[in-house]
Amino acid sequence: MAQRNTWQRERVREELADARGFVSAQTLHAALRDANTGIGLATVYRALAGLAASGDADSLQSPEGEALYRACTTTGHHHHLICRQCGLTVEIAATDVEQWAQRTAAQHGFRDAEHVVDIFGLCADCAAAAEA
Ligand SMILES: [Zn+2]
Ligand SMILES: [Zn+2]
Repeated sequence: MAQRNTWQRERVREELADARGFVSAQTLHAALRDANTGIGLATVYRALAGLAASGDADSLQSPEGEALYRACTTTGHHHHLICRQCGLTVEIAATDVEQWAQRTAAQHGFRDAEHVVDIFGLCADCAAAAEA
């Protein structure tokens, strides 16, 4: 049983690595179903939660409140620029944000501050297509 879960989690990890940007568990499950893997939605949810907990995947909430996942290439702290149309994702460093967050937390007497900052917008390709 443990063996089988490992195999499924590995398959979910591969599918996630192939995705262009952030994807939901439902989207990933649909792709795995099309590939006839027989992996159920509940297993996909569990695998994604496990990958996020172990730091193998990044997770965030879409503006609609949906949990999205991505296998980021940057392992350290970073931010994302995400196209809300096609899902294209760019990993970005944000030095200004780091300094602002530390300063603001300190001003209010907070320590060990963490933050989540992701930018959603339209990528250049989607913006051009929208104008055409
Ligand atoms: Zn786009
Ligand atoms: Zn940051």
